[in-house]
Amino acid sequence: MNPQNPVRVRFAPSPTGYLHVGGARTALFNWLYARSQGGVFVLRIEDTDRQRSTEQAYAAILAGMRWLGLDWDEGPEVGGDLGPYLQSERRDLYREQLDRLLASGQVYPCFCTDEELAERKQAAAPGGKAEPGYDGHCRDLGPAEREALAAAGRQPCWRLRTPEEGVTFWYDIVGGKREFQNETLTDRVVMKADGFPTYNFAAVVDDHLMGITHVLRGDDHVSNTPVQLLLYDACGFARPKLGHLPMILGLDKKRLSKRHDATRVESFREEGILPEAMVNYIALLGWSIGAAGDEVLGRDQLVKRFSLKKVNSSPAAFDLDKLQHINAEHIKRLSPARRLELAAPVLADHGWELAPEWRVLDAPDTGAYLARLLEILGNRFSSLVNLPGQVEFFFTDDFPRDPAAVAEHLASPVARERLAAVADALTKGLDLAQPVSADLFEQILRATAERLGVKAGELIHPCRVALTGQTRSAGIFAVMELIGGPRVVSRLRAAASLENS
Ligand code: GLU
Repeated sequence: MNPQNPVRVRFAPSPTGYLHVGGARTALFNWLYARSQGGVFVLRIEDTDRQRSTEQAYAAILAGMRWLGLDWDEGPEVGGDLGPYLQSERRDLYREQLDRLLASGQVYPCFCTDEELAERKQAAAPGGKAEPGYDGHCRDLGPAEREALAAAGRQPCWRLRTPEEGVTFWYDIVGGKREFQNETLTDRVVMKADGFPTYNFAAVVDDHLMGITHVLRGDDHVSNTPVQLLLYDACGFARPKLGHLPMILGLDKKRLSKRHDATRVESFREEGILPEAMVNYIALLGWSIGAAGDEVLGRDQLVKRFSLKKVNSSPAAFDLDKLQHINAEHIKRLSPARRLELAAPVLADHGWELAPEWRVLDAPDTGAYLARLLEILGNRFSSLVNLPGQVEFFFTDDFPRDPAAVAEHLASPVARERLAAVADALTKGLDLAQPVSADLFEQILRATAERLGVKAGELIHPCRVALTGQTRSAGIFAVMELIGGPRVVSRLRAAASLENS
């Protein structure tokens, strides 16, 4: 970091909706850049659209940022020297800048009503294909005309006088040189008649006053950028560096939007995605981190590797399967303590506890039992969404049984005779009042297979379905150890006496 001129970046959401994947990507890239440069990450709330801004959306954006772990150095609830960080509380500052622009003749009052603007557009292009923008109607009104309109009770808005010739361009950090012919830029409103600034004006004033060095945002703002650059120039502010991140597409190749399922960041939390996985996955959207297979990275590694030079200019596609894969990889890499922390609420949601009569091991409570359970699940625990289905049978005898597994492994009389034989052997060979080790279960099962003249697998498969309801589970002898001898025997006997279906 250069201590004289530290990097200062910002995320500037409008509180008009939840934090979506696109916004989270912008926030994350700014955060990564700040953290990788020893810079400052500012959160600014752009709430000048009074109709569409809500308290709820504001709270949801902050909650989403906190869930993702994108902490801000300056902003709401944190403070900072260059606040306030809500634009609705900065109106004096915009007014001050507007007065300067008025004094230098670079903005002018426009008295046109919305109806008048619409009528003139319609008249200019009767087919309805009007050029967007403003026709310059009030640009050259004289003082007397202005006074008369004001005296008639018209409240003006304020427009920037845009050059009619020349080119406005910048070198985009992501997209390279971008340029706009000034004649295509109409005189934009900078301050509305209600005294609130427009987005373009407020963003420029704030980016300047907050010392923002790099503006990184979605490429849906590219068309605003020339207007903002003209505003920097008009105000006499130095321009920041600008980078526009490529849009995110759904797998249907259309811009990711609310039409696509669950683009709301918090909905991923509800789906069991870990924040570290979400951050890792979002980082992959538009950033070439490295070779495939080297994409599962923690927050610190992302910060270490982040480089604006590696941000792609082509659109990135949002791929839910890939997110699930990255999530599974993150779960696998967690410490046992963190896995326990994640799994405990899943159990609590279902009301599953270790009942006193289940305490067959040195696992004195639900937490200790769950820790053992997660240990034997190992890498099979790869999704919080799948976890309940994987663990229910550890807590209740009334667990779901996969009908296909039952049909395949428990339906035949031979299979049921074998289960009965295993149950008999266990009852004879064990003191079921005592904990039984996985090894001992295995020895008895293998001895039974030998006695019956079958392969051990021919006993293991039906046993697994009888004990877990599934054809896949954690190691079956470890499962037996954990659920305990009495329960093993009773489940085997229940399966052995199933009616032929
Ligand atoms: N408030 C704008 C938005 O939510 C921010 C644009 C910018 O970063 O300049 O899209």
